[in-house]
Amino acid sequence: MDPLEIYIHIPFCKKKCDYCDFLSAPAAETVMRRYVDALKEEIRQFEAPRPVSTVFIGGGTPSILPGSWIGEIMETLRHKFRVLPDAEISIECNPGTADAGKLEEFRLAGINRLSLGLQSADDRDLRMLGRIHTWKQFLDIFRSARDAGFCNINVDLMSGLPEQTAGSWEETLKKVLALQPEHISAYSLIIEEGTPFYQRYHEDLVLREKGEEPSLLPSEEEERRMYHRTEKILAGAGYLRYEISNYAREGFDCRHNTGYWTREEYAGFGLGAASLLGNARLKNTEDLGAYLRRYLDKEKNAAQPEKEILSRSEEISEAMFLGLRLIRGVEIREVDRRYRTDIRDLYGKEIRQLKEQELLAEEDGCLRLTGRGLDLANLVMGAFV
Ligand code: SF4
Repeated sequence: MDPLEIYIHIPFCKKKCDYCDFLSAPAAETVMRRYVDALKEEIRQFEAPRPVSTVFIGGGTPSILPGSWIGEIMETLRHKFRVLPDAEISIECNPGTADAGKLEEFRLAGINRLSLGLQSADDRDLRMLGRIHTWKQFLDIFRSARDAGFCNINVDLMSGLPEQTAGSWEETLKKVLALQPEHISAYSLIIEEGTPFYQRYHEDLVLREKGEEPSLLPSEEEERRMYHRTEKILAGAGYLRYEISNYAREGFDCRHNTGYWTREEYAGFGLGAASLLGNARLKNTEDLGAYLRRYLDKEKNAAQPEKEILSRSEEISEAMFLGLRLIRGVEIREVDRRYRTDIRDLYGKEIRQLKEQELLAEEDGCLRLTGRGLDLANLVMGAFV
């Protein structure tokens, strides 16, 4: 039996950040408690348990929950599934919701990888983003995590922030590098509709799209400068870029997310969680009331997960556009074998054109994005959708 990856969604945050459109919201402790009970029931009801190679507890803010509740979730998982002894077990942690005691409880629950949401080392940026923590709070949590025995820590960072310059972004990178985390995720800010940021910076966005100078957002040129400096600075400090926005010291690539990009099967539990099981994609309801009715009040017909059966060509298309996110690229023979196809037949024209445009390269049987392809990744992925 091939191992399975597990994702658990905790849809609660102390306060919504101004740029965030994830499925998360503040909630009373009683609601969170009911949710955890429903989540445990959903796990118990899973029909085809298999060995588990990775667990990722994400959100929202999983660290908003008491450490003992995370322990309960892990215990329920271990009761249902055989979590492999070398499984990677990650939890996302907002520095404004944790302390040394909680981190120790996470370790006791078997969590062996911590993903800390920092975004910026500059307190002015953190206030502007609506984050609930300061740089100092992050530092304290980072040190407590090391003391608690976490030797695999990711730090989430974000560039392209309003009023951020390449220089101030570099400062953030350097301050974080001084701590030597094992992994760094460095995403660019995306301004999503429906967020306070969209209202605040929409006009700037329009200006930038027209190629004009925005007043608060960094210009496209400045954003590019930040993006290119990221790779240079992180490479200089021994971090290998293994995915468009992810960097790690050797041996610390995130196994869970790599599985997602290579289309390993995963089961998602919790509000809005998605699963990929065989050729079926499933998606849980995003309605908290309906989720609680289904799993807590046992209303069987409430909130059935949506199910989509993927055709072979949809699976191959996903394998291409997800796999190309990895710097090592897509192994042609492996995709051909796994999906009983010939991707050169299927995408011959697209691959040829992208190679001519120097966006795609082929090396050692792998198709991968070139440096230029990485800059224009969305365009390349579009060819395979
Ligand atoms: S802590 Fe994370 S999930 Fe919660 S609102 Fe902020 S960015 Fe969104």
